[in-house]
Amino acid sequence: MNPKLRVAVVGCGSAGPAAAILLRRQGHEVTLYERAPDCRPVGAGFLLQPSGMAVLRELGILEEILRRGARVERLHVVDRDEREVLDLHYAELGKDLHGLGLHRPVLLHFLLEAMRDAGVDVRWGWEISQARREDGKWLLETADGRRETGYDLLVVADGARSALRGKLGFKGINRGYPWGAHWFIGENRGAFPESELYQIVHGTRRLLGFLATGTELDGTEPLVSLFWSIKLADDATIRARPLAEWKQTILDLCPRADALLGQIHDWSQVLTARYGDVAMSRWHGDGVVILGDAGHAMSPQLGQGVNLALADAACLADSITRFPDLTEALSRYSRERRMALAYYRLASRQLTPWFQSDHEWLTPLRTGFFGITRHLPLARRFMTKTMAGLVGASLPRK
Ligand SMILES: Cc1cc2nc3c(=O)[nH]c(=O)nc-3n(C[C@H](O)[C@H](O)[C@H](O)COP(=O)(O)OP(=O)(O)OC[C@H]3O[C@@H](n4cnc5c(N)ncnc54)[C@H](O)[C@@H]3O)c2cc1C
Repeated sequence: MNPKLRVAVVGCGSAGPAAAILLRRQGHEVTLYERAPDCRPVGAGFLLQPSGMAVLRELGILEEILRRGARVERLHVVDRDEREVLDLHYAELGKDLHGLGLHRPVLLHFLLEAMRDAGVDVRWGWEISQARREDGKWLLETADGRRETGYDLLVVADGARSALRGKLGFKGINRGYPWGAHWFIGENRGAFPESELYQIVHGTRRLLGFLATGTELDGTEPLVSLFWSIKLADDATIRARPLAEWKQTILDLCPRADALLGQIHDWSQVLTARYGDVAMSRWHGDGVVILGDAGHAMSPQLGQGVNLALADAACLADSITRFPDLTEALSRYSRERRMALAYYRLASRQLTPWFQSDHEWLTPLRTGFFGITRHLPLARRFMTKTMAGLVGASLPRK
């Protein structure tokens, strides 16, 4: 018989709510703290992988989400002259396997509904600035002096720029990438395939992506997300120039982006994304565990962040049911996540300079490498498995 725990979760992105729902359904008392004053989903469209979808199925929200997402069958990368660089099909791993391009608010909406149904206590407008142990229980504090105490387990899921990670003494690498992206979500209007993540590369300094993103929560119009690689140091300079100049650089690579770019009238519609790079070898301490980007932020080159965050939550809940002793459960959690997290961090770290860096000399290597793997079924299958989030994955038990 598992003891009932009082659990505090910090962060309402994807890892936090998923963990909160699963732990609450096991009968624990769960309070989730989020610094945003109310439900304000932000963020680019993203690609949900089969690994993430398996967790959403366990949460009971996959069907609703599938209805709003774009069924992505393929990652298709070409160069400026439309020569193929990479073409990976999920079907290579099984005919029903696919990715799902999704508008971020859709995921948050259904996670919030499931939290409400499960009975998770959600506190908006609570920015947790301190957490410490007192008499074996966690005490949480906000910068404006609000406090809550009595928690047996603290789940830290406050994202790549976690304030708590360092304060709790977790060691590891924490640095940003010099490269990021401009992004925009607009109506597709038939310009790009609804079933792919389509990317155009030119050397290592130019990367343009279009991800079929499904629809808004109550919308019917198919959306597409545009990602345009930038060096973060250049962001302000680019934005100081006319928007038309930025659009033209994109059109030079992809004339069919015209209708999408036509929906942008002001720089405020174009957002800048930064990528974190966080590495740790142990994600737990005494009564505390770190999930999602807070413990393993990486560049989105492999499209795994949300999926890994959801898988973290499922693995934590699973460890806690299997091991009544909390210390043992948390240590099992770290052990079970180690392989997948180490692999995806290494892979995204290695792959990123091939697509976003000043190392132009990598271009012929990239062309050669992907050219050869096209003819090697096992290598192509492994790359597809990597993309699907299935390397080292411990999927939820049915
Ligand atoms: C441009 C871009 C494209 C991406 N594309 C993909 C993709 O295609 N597929 C994919 O899987 N991933 C993608 N990612 C990565 C993905 O967005 C992240 O990995 C994922 O959001 C991590 O989820 P999380 O729950 O760990 O953290 P987050 O989603 O960052 O959530 C953290 C939450 O904690 C809250 N918070 C922070 N500090 C505090 C505090 N002190 N107190 C209370 N609350 C706090 C924040 O407000 C936030 O709500 C992409 C990322 C970027 C930047």
